[in-house]
Parts: sequence; C-alpha cells; structure tokens
Amino acid sequence: MSKKILILPGDGIGPEIVTEAVKVLATLRDEQGLDIEMDEALVGGAAIDATGGPLPDATLDLAKEADAILLGAVGGHKWESLDISIRPEKGLLGLRSELNLFANLRPAILYPQLADASTLKPEVVSGLDIMIVRELTGGIYFGQPRGVRELDNGERQGYNTLVYSESEVDRIARVAFDIAMKRGKRLCSVDKANVLECTEMWREVVTKVAEEHPEVELSHMYVDNAAMQLVKWPKQFDVMVTTNMFGDILSDCAAMLTGSIGMLPSASLDENSKGMYEPIHGSAPDIAGQGVANPLATILSVAMMLRYSLDKPAMAERIEAAVNKVLDDGLRTPDIMSDGMTEVSCEGMGDAIVAVL
Ligand code: NAD
Repeated sequence: MSKKILILPGDGIGPEIVTEAVKVLATLRDEQGLDIEMDEALVGGAAIDATGGPLPDATLDLAKEADAILLGAVGGHKWESLDISIRPEKGLLGLRSELNLFANLRPAILYPQLADASTLKPEVVSGLDIMIVRELTGGIYFGQPRGVRELDNGERQGYNTLVYSESEVDRIARVAFDIAMKRGKRLCSVDKANVLECTEMWREVVTKVAEEHPEVELSHMYVDNAAMQLVKWPKQFDVMVTTNMFGDILSDCAAMLTGSIGMLPSASLDENSKGMYEPIHGSAPDIAGQGVANPLATILSVAMMLRYSLDKPAMAERIEAAVNKVLDDGLRTPDIMSDGMTEVSCEGMGDAIVAVL
C-alpha cells in the first residue's frame, strides 16, 4: 500500500527548500519505484494568514493520517507581534505533542568537503558523525506546576518542574539503543544525576534497558562535562541520549561544530516510527524569496524519512551519496561557498541532486 507523505512548506524559505526536497521524492517515486502519495497543507504563519490559526484542523487531520511529514520551517517578522499562544511556532509544537513525537533525532555530520566551515580545528571535527537523541515531549518544558507567582513579601518567583516517569525514560532509551545498534554501538547517556533526583532515576532506567542490549557500550556523563567534551573532542561520541532541555542545548552545540546550519536534518518520531522530518534551521526571513537558501538539510531530512519511517535504507543512502557527489563536484549554495567552488541557487542545488539520483 502507498505510504502517505504530508508536505508542510511553512514560511520564509520553507516553500523554496521544500520544493527541492519534493523533487527528490518525486524522482524516487517516478523512476525508482518508491510507492508514496504526497499531500500538501498549511502550517505556521501561512496558516495564520489563511485560517487565523497556526495549526488548522484540516492540517492536523492530514498529519494524523500520514505515515511521515516533511516540514520546511515556520515563523517570521510578520507574526512576531501576535500573542505567543497563536504564533507560527505553536503550529510546530502542536504537531509534536498531538502526534506524540517523543524522540528527536539530530545528527551532526561534518562533510569533509566543508571542513573549513567549522570554527574548530579540522583535526578535531573532520569525520565527525554524532547522533543526538533528545526526549521531546516531556521534562521541564512540559512539567507541571509551572508559572510565576507572587510571594508573601511581594517578590515574584518563577518556577518550572523537571519531571520524567520511568516509562518515558524507558522508551527514549530504547530508541537510542536501537540507533546505536545500527551505528557504532556506543551510547552516552547525559544527565545531571549528581544534583537532580529526576535524572538520577533517568540513569537507573537507562542502565536497566542496557541489560537488553549487551552489544552496546553504555557510558554516562554529566551534562556540564558533555558540553565541554563536545567542544574539546567531539569524535569520542557515537550516539548521545538525553532529556528535552539538555538535548535542546547540546544538539545546537553539536550542530555548530559542523559550521553549516543549511546542511543538518532532523527527525521526530513516535512509538511506531511515524515521523516528522525537518531541517534544523528556521525560516531565514533575511534570505527568503531570493532563491539562495541551501536545500540540502531538507533533502537530507528526506533521507532520514526513508530510513526511519519508510524502511528504505538503500534509497536514503542514495540521497546521502548524491549530496556527497555534488559537494565533491564543487557545487555550493552561498552559505557554504568558498574559493574555487561553483555557486548555485537553491533550485540549482536541487536539480543537481536529482541529476545524480
Ligand atoms: P534561522 O535558522 O532561520 O536563520 C539563522 C541564519 O542562518 C540566518 O542568517 C539565515 O539566513 C541562515 N540560514 C538558515 N537556514 C539557511 C539555509 N537553508 N540556507 C542558507 N542560510 C540559512 O534562525 P532565526 O533567524 O533565528 O529565525 C528565523 C525565524 O525562524 C524565526 O521566526 C524563528 O522563530 C523561526 N524558527 C523556526 C524553526 C522551525 O521552523 N523549526 C526553527 C528555528 C527558528
């Protein structure tokens, strides 16, 4: 049976980069037998303009029916003055929570052709290939109680709650062990077990899940040390698993080791490997509409979709090989341009990938 893919272009450069990624999906469908049906819907600012809200019911219904979702990006200056409850970003958060996308996968890969883009020394980052698995629907970002209250002395006090149940830790640990099995079989669980009871329990649960995965070498690291080690010697890591907030911070740090925000994809998965796939960058309003955005993060998000939701690892590898080939051929969008290379537009980069495929 055909797999249903929902396309959500979103705002800013979203429609430009998604157009190129859809070309890649269409090529695999038309020429290589990928059995998919694609549908498109509104999210974010585009949905606010058309319907008054960032996540229309029609979009949510299609998202629930889909096997996988490809999202461009949401947000922009136009909607910044709106109340926080109806801003474009709420569309994204709504999709993540409504679809229970609890496992966020963020690879940080440094393409050897782009080693100069990193601010770190080439010997520290060349060959870098880390996967960060971040818990996405729990922890301090969602814990209750939360808020700002007034104390008896009239002073205001802000408070949030870090809370994880054993089952939440267990399921994210299982995702991380499974991924580690398919990669270098090394998993580092990041916590703050020396200070936070909640993450002391996190460590215990991860250690218990490890008993079922004897082939994976498990280590534990405090988050402050993990931040230092990521910058000092990132190649020591294969797969890292951590809480929502620690993962938010560490995955951005890891992304920047590669120096090129336009190259990094991500996946957010539910318990049945249904997923939403998107580049890690935002809607880049500063370059929207100019045809200069780098579509490779979105195209590599399609590769992740093929691997994690559509069970087509060979096609995923074909896309990744095509990205390597166009970089080897010297093609660069302006964000990754360097001396002696050939500058191409967003569309030019998409066409080059399709030609290699
Ligand atoms: P951004 O990631 O959009 O842009 C940061 C910088 O990187 C900009 O200079 C931009 O031009 C550049 N850049 C980003 N993607 C690029 C690409 N594919 N090719 C070339 N250059 C690229 O971050 P921002 O400027 O902080 O945010 C802009 C808007 O995006 C905001 O409204 C923000 O809320 C939203 N945002 C959305 C998401 C998402 O949809 N997942 C994520 C982050 C930010």
